[in-house]
Parts: sequence; structure tokens; C-alpha cells
Amino acid sequence: MESPSLSLSNLEMLEDYDPDSMPVGQARQLIRQFLAPLSEVEIVPLHIAYQRTLAADVHSPMNVPPHNYSAMDGYAVRHADLRTAPSSLKLVGSSFAGHAFGGQVVAGECVRIMTGALIPAGCDSVVMQEHVRANGDRVEIGDGQRLGQNIRLAGEDVVKGALVLAHGHVIRAAEMGLLASLGIGEISAYRKLKIAIFSTGDELRQPGTPLAAGQIYDSNRFTLIGLLTELGADIIDLGNIRDDKDSIRATLLQAAARSDVIITSGGVSVGEADYIKQLLAEIGEVVFWKIAMKPGRPLAYGKIGQCHFFGLPGNPVAVMVTFLQFVRDALRVLMGQDPKPSFTLQALCTSSIRKAPGRTEFQRGILSQDAEGRWLVQTTGEQGSGILSSMVKANCFIVLALEQGNVEAGKVVQVQMF
Ligand code: AMP
Ligand code: MG
Repeated sequence: MESPSLSLSNLEMLEDYDPDSMPVGQARQLIRQFLAPLSEVEIVPLHIAYQRTLAADVHSPMNVPPHNYSAMDGYAVRHADLRTAPSSLKLVGSSFAGHAFGGQVVAGECVRIMTGALIPAGCDSVVMQEHVRANGDRVEIGDGQRLGQNIRLAGEDVVKGALVLAHGHVIRAAEMGLLASLGIGEISAYRKLKIAIFSTGDELRQPGTPLAAGQIYDSNRFTLIGLLTELGADIIDLGNIRDDKDSIRATLLQAAARSDVIITSGGVSVGEADYIKQLLAEIGEVVFWKIAMKPGRPLAYGKIGQCHFFGLPGNPVAVMVTFLQFVRDALRVLMGQDPKPSFTLQALCTSSIRKAPGRTEFQRGILSQDAEGRWLVQTTGEQGSGILSSMVKANCFIVLALEQGNVEAGKVVQVQMF
């Protein structure tokens, strides 16, 4: 496994390192270099393996299907018997799914067979029942039957020994079914990533409690719980912490001792109550980036001991954007996955967009198709970084490149699907 090639202290040696305006792509690559997958692996029973990452390749212990089966309801025959049309065969038994015909079929004989039933010994083809006239124990078969037809051959889905799922693959519904079809009841998986989260801010209150003037509800922690649940992480929720240096320090130290990753929101800019950067420098190592992007300019990354730290901005939309653009793939690497760039497409933008060059913008968009099947995208409207309803309305980001200026309606833009 690749080990991280950068240390936090030699960042300045990189060419083009501008911590005050780091392009999105460069920040992504940089974070990647500090990350290595978890080393602990465990055996997980298949029924609770959803979202787990494979820690080893899986080869098939068997052929799928394991034997030759009928793909139709009809009659199992010996193709060599079908030289005359119609041919008349003697019905000698039946083969049902789970109840095979035990005997040997010889020349001039056939067997009634159902979909999913084992092909009887001696037979090589299945004739659909629609092509057959049956009368007592005589069966007349029409012409045009091909040798081997309507048989699912042993190994046609998966051949014994074949690589079915590679190391780093994430287990979802199809994978669970596939593994079960191979008789595999447990997998070797990376252990779950333990992620501690907390919000910072004196103004924050827990939903379900009353709000005084000047207070707002802590929404970021809930957004993060959702995002982390989608990734299958173990979440350690440390609540919201006051803008008090000692409280934040104590919470960070406590979190670092029991988790692989800490994610906070708020307190990473340069306001008087923004302590995250100072504290990270004091108790760990800090890489603090002002990323040339909107929303989400300030993003702290660093380590406290062995624990990775991501300090996200406070604005609710910025939390989601920075998580989706940087943190999610970083977590996937720690989980043992090899994240691929997210799926993008070109769409005709039906809104005009104001955009200043010099930063990448992630506007919230609604992607649709017109009657001709062309992709159209419109913005969700007001794009303030506190307007979380824009993330609910949106199904994609409209990604406007660093040097892009205003966009006129009718121009083609790049869209990144959620
Ligand atoms: P900060 O980065 O701490 O200055 O926060 C920037 C903005 O985001 C401020 O308006 C905060 O009130 C708001 N904010 C910070 N944390 C949260 C949170 N957990 N939930 C909702 N809004 C927040
Ligand atoms: Mg704050």
C-alpha cells in the first residue's frame, strides 16, 4: 500500500504552493498525499457488510451457475433426435427446479423441464413448450431447434477462480447478492472509520430547544451526520462547543484520542473567536488552506497525533460543498477505497450567472432534459452560502472554472451530479 509522500512540515517546498489561494484541484491532490488506508482489517458477515470496503480481492470459489440449467419451461431433448420434423419423442420423466430427473435420457426420449431445473444427463437442448404438441407419453417437436438452445451453461455468469470483486470495492446491494450467489457468507473488510464531529459557535443551539435573539440552530452537525452515514462511517457526535479556546482544545484532544478523523465546522476564518487554526498549530500540525473557491474558501486540514483533522467553514452550504469536494474522497481513501473523479456532464445553462474570475464556483443547479433529450441546467436561485434550501432543491453543482467570468443564459456549462 502506498504511504503518504508528504509531511506537513515540508509543504512550502512544493512548487506553486500558495496557501492564500489554492486552486481546487491542487488542494485535492495535496490532501490525497497525506492519506493512507487504515491498516486494521476484520471479517464481516455478509448480511451486515453493506457499505464496507473489501480489504482483499474476492475470487469465485465456484462456477455460477454451478451446473447446466434450463432457461425455459419446456422439454429437455437430445438434439440428434430432431432430424425429422416433426419428431416424435417418448416422455420419460420430469425435472423441476430443486428436483432433478435422476435417470439417463437415451435416444428417442425427452424429459419435461421447468425454468431453473437441472438438465438431465444425456440431454443437450431445451425446446420451449410453445413449440411442442404433447399427447400422453408422446411429444411432437416442431423444426428449427438449435443444438444447445435454452440452456444456462455452468460458469456462464462467473467462472470458478475468476476475480469477482477487487480489493477496495465497496459492498452495495448488487455486491451482497453476487457474493451470496457464490456461497460466500463473510468478507474481509477494512474496519469502519471512526469520525468525531462537533460544531463550534456561541450562537448555536440544539434543534428542539427554544431560540433566543441572535441564536441559530446547529444545522451543520446534522448535515455531517447525514453525509457520514451515507459513507458508512462510525460517527462520534460531540455536540456543539462554545467559542472558548480551552473548551475547543479539550474537545479536540478528547476526540483525537478516540477517532481516526475529526471534522468540525465554524471558527476557521480569521474572526476574533476563530480558534481552530491556532489550536491545531498548538496541539498538532496544521495545513490551512484558503481555497480559490466559492462557497468554502477557508478549509483547515491537519493532524493531531495520528488523527486526521478537517476544519470546515461555518456556513451551511460551504460545509456541504467542502465536504463533497474534498473530505468525502479523503475519507474514502482512509477507508481503503480508490475514489474516482465524480461524474460530470455538459449542459445548456438556462439561467444567466454572475461570476468573478479567480475562483472555482460550485453553484447549486437543477438538471433536467428537454423533449429532444438535451441536458438543461438552471441555478436554484439565490446562491448565498447560508441558504441550505438551495442544496435541497439542487440535484447537481454547476461548476464554473477558475478563470470563468459571467455566464450568459444559453451557454454550455459543466455539471457535477450529486
Ligand atoms: P464561522 O466560520 O464560525 O464564522 O461561521 C460562519 C457562519 O456560519 C456564521 O454565520 C455562523 O453563525 C454560521 N454557522 C457556524 N456554524 C454553524 C452551524 N453549526 N450551523 C449553522 N450555522 C452555522
Ligand atoms: Mg463561529
